[in-house]
Amino acid sequence: MEVPVAIDNDAKALALGEAWFGAGRRFSNFMAMVVSTGVGGGLFVDGKLLDGRNGNAGHIGHVIVEPDGAKCVCGARGCLEAEASGPAIARRIGAAPVEADVKERARAGVMVGRAVASAVNLLDLEQVLIGGSVALGFGATFLDAANRELSERCKLEFSRGVKIAEVELGEAAPLVGAAAVGFRSVGIDPRAD
Ligand SMILES: [Zn+2]
Repeated sequence: MEVPVAIDNDAKALALGEAWFGAGRRFSNFMAMVVSTGVGGGLFVDGKLLDGRNGNAGHIGHVIVEPDGAKCVCGARGCLEAEASGPAIARRIGAAPVEADVKERARAGVMVGRAVASAVNLLDLEQVLIGGSVALGFGATFLDAANRELSERCKLEFSRGVKIAEVELGEAAPLVGAAAVGFRSVGIDPRAD
């Protein structure tokens, strides 16, 4: 028996899962992102998951947040992933990210807020949902810093007031997202019903 197989990246799966079953149900234009070992994002725009030319739309981890910053795995410098991912933080503090102090947690939030501001202004988003071990583990210190930086940098009439909030599906989000990717691959869209 042949079984159809669908594959997509974790952040796009997260965006789709949140769009269909989580906090994203309330929005037609949002980004879901993961700040963990890597930093990724999925864009849900005009009620649909954006794919891009090769299925890679949403790579917020490679938006530049520090022009002369740390070297990134992609070869560039100062990408969000090189400044705020778990391994990046471990490199900076010489210990596991869980050991990061308040200042370092806030700094990671600022970096995320900076990248998010560009995405919000670029795509006219109404909300950003964030998950992943760094984002959720760093808690309010991280999230407050991210939102402060976002409001400092989003001043356009349409982008003012956009917020970053935690994903709603929590630990179940990746699995729900994976299921949503499967449904999408066979043409099912619960939001279209
Ligand atoms: Zn990069």
